[in-house]
Amino acid sequence: MRKLEPVVKKWYDALDEDKMLGFKCQRCGAWEFPPVYCCNNCSGTDMQWAEISGKGRLLDFVCTSPISDHPENTDLKPYCLGSVELAEGPSLYAIVQGVSKKNKKEMNAKLPISVKAEIVQRDGFRSVVFRVVDE
Ligand SMILES: [Zn+2]
Repeated sequence: MRKLEPVVKKWYDALDEDKMLGFKCQRCGAWEFPPVYCCNNCSGTDMQWAEISGKGRLLDFVCTSPISDHPENTDLKPYCLGSVELAEGPSLYAIVQGVSKKNKKEMNAKLPISVKAEIVQRDGFRSVVFRVVDE
């Protein structure tokens, strides 16, 4: 039986040390980001903390509207919500800066777009957002 640890606390503590941690499955090598205890690839539970590269690709996105916009994310504007595939493999739905209503047509034609994870300081905590990288 795996000894449970406070995953959320460890994740945020790592962000305070400029590290973005995921879990790497010790059975099949697949990654989980954000970290979850059970591997989505092989159902293995021997997951070890490991730092992600932050590199990824934006596969698809939607621009927010006054209805879908979360009022607590005002400090991150302008942004879109996008499906990001990390270089390590896992995909997640994330805030992506560099794509907005102003350039959505141009950016949509360029998909997939290279993005990089960044740690941002929010009101009292740090978080991860993705940003379009120029190649
Ligand atoms: Zn696995």
